[in-house]
Amino acid sequence: MTSEAPLYKNHALLLSQSFFIKDNKDELLLHAHKYDFDITFFSEVSDFAHAVEASGNNSLFVIDLDALHNMQADMQSSRKTLMLGELLARLPGGHSYVYLQSVRQGGRFLLQQRLVDSDCLAYAEKPIANDVLVDKLFNLFVQKKRGDLVRLMYLGDAAQLDGAALLEQRVEVLSHDDAHTLHLRVKDLQPDIVLIADAEYERTEAIVRVLKKNIEADPVREIVLLQHRVDVELTRRALASGFDGTIPLVSPELLTAQLVNRANKIRVSKDLIGKDRATGLLNKVGLQKKAQELIRRAAREGVPLSFGVVDIDKFKTINDTWGHYFGDIVIKRLSLTLASQVGEADLLSRFGGEEFVVVFWDCPLEEGRRRLDAMREAFGAIPFEVRPGEVRRFSFSGGVAAYPEYKTENELFLRADAMLYEAKQGGRNQIRIAPNR
Ligand code: GH3
Ligand code: MG
Ligand code: MG
Repeated sequence: MTSEAPLYKNHALLLSQSFFIKDNKDELLLHAHKYDFDITFFSEVSDFAHAVEASGNNSLFVIDLDALHNMQADMQSSRKTLMLGELLARLPGGHSYVYLQSVRQGGRFLLQQRLVDSDCLAYAEKPIANDVLVDKLFNLFVQKKRGDLVRLMYLGDAAQLDGAALLEQRVEVLSHDDAHTLHLRVKDLQPDIVLIADAEYERTEAIVRVLKKNIEADPVREIVLLQHRVDVELTRRALASGFDGTIPLVSPELLTAQLVNRANKIRVSKDLIGKDRATGLLNKVGLQKKAQELIRRAAREGVPLSFGVVDIDKFKTINDTWGHYFGDIVIKRLSLTLASQVGEADLLSRFGGEEFVVVFWDCPLEEGRRRLDAMREAFGAIPFEVRPGEVRRFSFSGGVAAYPEYKTENELFLRADAMLYEAKQGGRNQIRIAPNR
């Protein structure tokens, strides 16, 4: 592929000297690419150490401790812990590492302790299946990156919450002061955590049932009671009525720490449910939720939206001719092209295999057509080297419908999809728009 941007978002460096990883190299890479990261393999500690020093901290550094056996052979010693110490001493400081160890190594607590105290990000026990290892490494990438904002709505005395400290940790606080309208605000703004002070709960005990019994309530959302004083009977009633948990108010600092930990868990769940792993884009579930939110916001602010559906042309032929793996790279390239042209307020989703959805914020129909057409041209210009010396270009077709002409996420999708169908019928490699009704 002749393009400057790196194809995969993340990068893992792997030091491994023996059978387990090496034999599985190709399969491991294939899995990794599906999760949007690439792996470079090293067999010499010194090469690995140099590469670690040269790379940014967004990479993962993985060490297969079978490397120890080889080092041991080199140095003709039989004391494993000492050899481990020697290996660890050669790793550049200021980084953290993922260690792959044998069950036997893992069974020795002192060795284990030594490892977890040595810049250890995580450890795994071998044998571990390639897809499982890749999945775990992917989770580590997700944890490392600056996550999406988690939204917290608070009903109670706002003096207790340190909004600035929370925002620093990617938790956005919205305060509300009326128990009787809380459910409306929650429906509108879809917070991930609802925190309710005990005094408010005592005044309006039905509050959580009203939030929870709504059939549209987000199942990932956490509803938490903030307890200014411990009251066992109240706690019991609160848990029975639907609170997911309680936090005793010891200090604002500890409250922040508790909320940040909860937010991190929620963020991971949301990513697992709502995002596509290969591209990091919203999947169908994530898009639906975000699009509905965006439509509500557009209604509030009186702003138009353009909803575009994109599908790669003759993709079956691409797969059949150059293989499924090459097809994946084409999908990946398209996702990068689209991502480079959407703004902060827009949505981008990998809706299905080679189908994508974009939602342009504050964008009337004709402008939506133009923007999608610019994406079509950018994608069509990418030279793909299908075989050494043989370059091909590919295309996609698209359909666009706009809000407020079409009102709901479902209507917009169906309309845009019908326009996509027309674009395909009309010869592909083009964008069609839904005429005003
Ligand atoms: P058209 O121009 O009409 O869209 O023709 P097409 O061949 O692209 O037809 P269609 O969109 O129906 O075909 C999509 C194909 O994409 C079917 C499926 O095998 C393949 N596909 C779906 N998801 C993936 C994926 O993640 N990777 C790869 N390589 N292929 C996929
Ligand atoms: Mg398709
Ligand atoms: Mg297609």
